[in-house]
Amino acid sequence: MALNSLRPMRAFNACRQILNCSARLLSSTPSADKAREPTSTTRLEPCEAPSMMDIGTRRIFSEDHDIFRQTVRRFFQEEIAPHQAQWEIDGQVSRECWEKAGEMGLLGVATPEEQGGLGGDFLMSSIVLDEQSYANCSGPGWALHSDIVMPYISHYGTPEQIQKFLPAMTEGKCIGAIAMTEPGAGSDLQGIRTNAKKDGDDYILNGSKVFITNGYMSDLVIVVALTNPAAKSAAHGISLFLVEEGMKGFIKGKKLKKMGLKAQDTAELFFEDVRLPKSALLGQENKGFFYLMNELPQERLLIGIMAMASCEFMFEETRKYVKERKAFGKTLSKLQVIQHKLAEMKTEIAVGRAFMDQCLEIHNTRGLDSSSASMAKYWASELQNTVADRCVQLHGGWGYMQEYPICRAYTDARVQPIYGGSNEIMKELIARQVIAD
Ligand SMILES: Cc1cc2nc3c(=O)[nH]c(=O)nc-3n(C[C@H](O)[C@H](O)[C@H](O)COP(=O)(O)OP(=O)(O)OC[C@H]3O[C@@H](n4cnc5c(N)ncnc54)[C@H](O)[C@@H]3O)c2cc1C
Repeated sequence: MALNSLRPMRAFNACRQILNCSARLLSSTPSADKAREPTSTTRLEPCEAPSMMDIGTRRIFSEDHDIFRQTVRRFFQEEIAPHQAQWEIDGQVSRECWEKAGEMGLLGVATPEEQGGLGGDFLMSSIVLDEQSYANCSGPGWALHSDIVMPYISHYGTPEQIQKFLPAMTEGKCIGAIAMTEPGAGSDLQGIRTNAKKDGDDYILNGSKVFITNGYMSDLVIVVALTNPAAKSAAHGISLFLVEEGMKGFIKGKKLKKMGLKAQDTAELFFEDVRLPKSALLGQENKGFFYLMNELPQERLLIGIMAMASCEFMFEETRKYVKERKAFGKTLSKLQVIQHKLAEMKTEIAVGRAFMDQCLEIHNTRGLDSSSASMAKYWASELQNTVADRCVQLHGGWGYMQEYPICRAYTDARVQPIYGGSNEIMKELIARQVIAD
């Protein structure tokens, strides 16, 4: 990516900082061990670098990406990490942090500039996800907002819808959510009951949704609803609607109490005779299911990206811990059994990272297919839970204490094989391609 591809972001403080700090960053990039000193043309892979989270690694990135990553990392450390504990008590993040992220150029990164986004590439978006996992701050639901909700509007919205929502979403002034799941329909999306009936040019929306990320704080929700119950299959009778905060009959339920992701709001939503103008329809009527199928691979890849970054974070956190913790007169890291556990984890994470970066590279250039995205989601989220379990074990009792970062990483990991399509459904999708003639 050339520097001029960052031009759209210059209006934002982030980019001013990026361009100003480039010289400083390049001189402060951590060096590898002596055997693998990077040259000006080679980039180390995370398994070769002193830390798997080092800036300046991974051959899919350029120095421009490193500069962006430096800014994002600092933002999470300074503006997000200090608030995470309070937000966990609140069950949501602050509105202020959304607007700050907007000012810093962290939202709508890959949305085209002409639509009000920042015009970066998908690799830049992935940097925001990595850094959120490295900061161990799962509060802000930015991945869903920027890389799931915004693409629907970007790809299927009318010029008016794009103009109305995308610039405000990039600024963090309009928080987005997407509502597919219902109390009686999760994996089986075709079993939804929420429906929108035609009334003249309008639609009347009725139903309820559950487990909706950003639901409580949302200003805009993409709601999946049945519009033709008589269609040959539900897939042919589903449409997407843009439902806005304040619309009569749109009611937000309680913030749900969860095992992990405690600072991220997850809510129930209710629709009671919500009158939607024709302009609230996103894309064409009854094409909603096909739009969902087109967009879901990116959602799955995002989960994989966050999972791999979380593995790297947990590994580094644990490596640090066992090098400090003493038992039987020496540090844990001197015990061979501990060394082998670290060696196994590092190897598995390095293998996972190689596949994830391959997926990222493909997605950035030509779009990842559904089967590969499912593999990325399934494999990385399983690995994340395995690594989380082993890392807590290596922390002993302290790993079970909330004051230790590994405790949060462990509970946050558990949902990853469940949402975005459960891993059982991922295997169905992978198998479908495997046995296809
Ligand atoms: C924290 C959180 C955030 C979420 N955010 C959102 C959001 O923003 N928007 C949204 O729409 N949804 C969201 N979800 C919902 C999530 O996508 C669903 O929970 C998920 O798709 C699973 O659906 P379900 O919970 O109804 O489980 P079910 O579909 O009831 O599945 C239960 C179990 O049965 C298995 N199973 C189901 N069908 C099959 C099958 N055919 N073959 C084999 N096994 C099967 C599943 O894998 C699972 O293990 C969120 C969920 C959580 C927990």
